Parts: sequence; structure tokens; C-alpha cells
Amino acid sequence: MTSFTTDTETVLRPTTGDGDHDRFAHYVKKDEILPSTIEGTPVKALCGKVWIPSRDPNNFGVCPTCKEIYEGLQPGDD
Ligand SMILES: [Zn+2]
Repeated sequence: MTSFTTDTETVLRPTTGDGDHDRFAHYVKKDEILPSTIEGTPVKALCGKVWIPSRDPNNFGVCPTCKEIYEGLQPGDD
């Protein structure tokens, strides 16, 4: 049994004016996003990053670590 599921959603890290280098979209489990959006509590991305997410229309690159982990969770198709 794995504790991970594929029920994830990409959430953007908010910009804080500290430069562009750390702006990535991270994957976060959906069941962590809901309480976060209601209560403003931090979420933990698949890569381990913890922050308070905010929806942002800008299109950031996907965090490479999250992407690797997320793709590893997908059922093999070939
Ligand atoms: Zn990440």
C-alpha cells in the first residue's frame, strides 16, 4: 500500500517579490488544498515544500521535483 494517491492538483507558489528563480507550480494533494483555501493554512507539496498557496493566473513552470514524483505515481501505461 502506498500513502500517495494521484489525486493531486497543481498549485502555484505565490510571488513574494524575492525574484523569479523560486517561482514554480507545485503539486499538492487535493485533500490538503481544501482546508488551506478555507483556513489559510500551509500545504505541503510532493517535493516537500511547505507554503501557503494562492491561485495565480500566471503560468509558471512546474517544479521539476514535484513533476518527477507525480509522474512516478501514475500507473504504468506501457
Ligand atoms: Zn515542488
